[in-house]
Amino acid sequence: MNKNYHITEECTGCEACVPSCPIDVIYYDSQKSIYAIDEEQCMSCGSCVAECPVNAIIEPY
Ligand code: SF4
Ligand code: SF4
Repeated sequence: MNKNYHITEECTGCEACVPSCPIDVIYYDSQKSIYAIDEEQCMSCGSCVAECPVNAIIEPY
């Protein structure tokens, strides 16, 4: 079960999603070399999902 928005390893690092987040909780994970969502702070607004050209942002289900 996935309760939070999450960025998968499909992420290319294009940064398109970053400015779409109203609370600025999408950050670069330098260990994984992809972007990531602070899943504690994400308020699940969904704004970032449509911005991703490779559908790397997974909605909760
Ligand atoms: S769902 Fe909303 S709050 Fe969460 S990371 Fe995406 S844009 Fe930010
Ligand atoms: S828009 Fe998609 S590919 Fe681009 S940084 Fe965000 S999650 Fe990664």
